[in-house]
Amino acid sequence: MVKCNWCSIEKINESIYALIDKDGGWFLSNTGIINMGSYTLVIDTQYNESRAKDIINIINDLGFPKVGLILNTHPHGDHAWGNHVFNVPSIMHKNANNVVEASINIGAKIYEQFFPNLDFKGSKYTLPDIIVGDEGIVLKSKDGEINVKYLGPAHTPGDLIADIDWANTVFAGDLVFNEVTPLAIDGTVLGWINALDKLEIIADNKKIVGGHGGIADKNVIKLIKEYLQNIANGTKESLSLGIYDPLAIAERIGTKPLDNWKLKERIVLNVARAIMDYQNKKPGEIVTNLPELAFKMAKFSL
Ligand SMILES: [Zn+2]
Repeated sequence: MVKCNWCSIEKINESIYALIDKDGGWFLSNTGIINMGSYTLVIDTQYNESRAKDIINIINDLGFPKVGLILNTHPHGDHAWGNHVFNVPSIMHKNANNVVEASINIGAKIYEQFFPNLDFKGSKYTLPDIIVGDEGIVLKSKDGEINVKYLGPAHTPGDLIADIDWANTVFAGDLVFNEVTPLAIDGTVLGWINALDKLEIIADNKKIVGGHGGIADKNVIKLIKEYLQNIANGTKESLSLGIYDPLAIAERIGTKPLDNWKLKERIVLNVARAIMDYQNKKPGEIVTNLPELAFKMAKFSL
């Protein structure tokens, strides 16, 4: 019997499973498992060693072949810090590789004070072995092709999705959140809206496994787009009125249509990134005033 403490194990078909984290909050993300025939592909490796080991156990229990390849949808720790546990090659977008190169010596230590309930044992970056450009890459499995696509900078500068026509499924990484508020601080609000326009077409009538929250369909893309568009419009208007404080702007805009989603306060960080977009800061450019923004985020109430 296959068990998981932190995830529900969702069967997509005989060859594909999604491990859906039961909470979906900070660092608590989803993983994909695909039996390719001679090996198993893991999409995102979780944030710590014990979760990565759980993935290996689940794969064994399912009777799938040994893990042979990792696809990281993006360079955030909750999707990539478990890579080293598998000891197999990993794939990232070139912009994600740049982020990992810049962050490889910064451990998870800084996060321990903010998230005392999380276990950061063995949380560390590994440089990818295969770097994918904007044209993406095709992985051939026993059942058909897995199209790894780049839709432009969005949640981070280097997000990849795995589009699987024969399974009617897209693993969208953090381009899609479900019932957990999306986070744009390391990417770009305006770019993310563009990427979702493309994803809406790709994911039409498909199941969408996002990075956080349960399996969704294209309706969730509409909701996230509306939320990000509200932030973009409201931020632009506020700036034109001389309002520059992300907390004040966030409280003007509100969290529609995601009012009932968890971690609503993330809107403060999303507005901060929208301000950077309008200042023509590059997607993913380092945010220098993060402690101040975290303080403002804690004050957000609507
Ligand atoms: Zn994530």
